[in-house]
Amino acid sequence: MWYLITLIHTNTYLKVDNMPTIGFEIKRKCKVCGKVFVAKTLDSHYCSPKCGKVAWKRKKDAKDRNAKLEAIAKQVSDIREYISVKEAVAMFGVERSTLYRLIKLGRIPTINMGTRLTRIKRSEMERLFLNRPESIAEKEKPAPKIYSLEPEDCYTITEICKKYHINDSSVWAHVRKYSIPSRQIGNYVYVPKQEIDNLYKSEVE
Ligand SMILES: [Zn+2]
Repeated sequence: MWYLITLIHTNTYLKVDNMPTIGFEIKRKCKVCGKVFVAKTLDSHYCSPKCGKVAWKRKKDAKDRNAKLEAIAKQVSDIREYISVKEAVAMFGVERSTLYRLIKLGRIPTINMGTRLTRIKRSEMERLFLNRPESIAEKEKPAPKIYSLEPEDCYTITEICKKYHINDSSVWAHVRKYSIPSRQIGNYVYVPKQEIDNLYKSEVE
């Protein structure tokens, strides 16, 4: 049995290394600039360090903004009946422009306590919107990757070739290049369906 596995491995590697070129590369659209690029890893979503930095900055700004809103929402006492637009935005996670539009349409009654001192009845907001989700930041955390290598959650290399019309050398090359886990049982190598679908379906035509 062990002998067989070693043989298959050696064979596969030889095959890959002897291939003059890999069938194709994984191309993706950069999430920042839209340029099509060759993804180096499964988690590459940006074409360049520059775009990666832009994305990071955007994420950070969103996080900072969220933290600010949470702080504003926190300081509103539970028993206060009237809230400002700023507080409503923070407490109910609604866009400022949406809120003003609804006020203008008369959907949200307000009282005016002077110039720029619009106050909204909290119960009206509660009627229209759900409270701000506990923490939006929490939602942004990527879920840890869990792979199931049970055969029912996996494709065999042959199945991948058939499904995505790729030759086995290319599949092997991608599995190695993108560090996709695999499991060998007897003559078959199992690779998580999810990772393979993610890899080939995200490809730009
Ligand atoms: Zn880019």
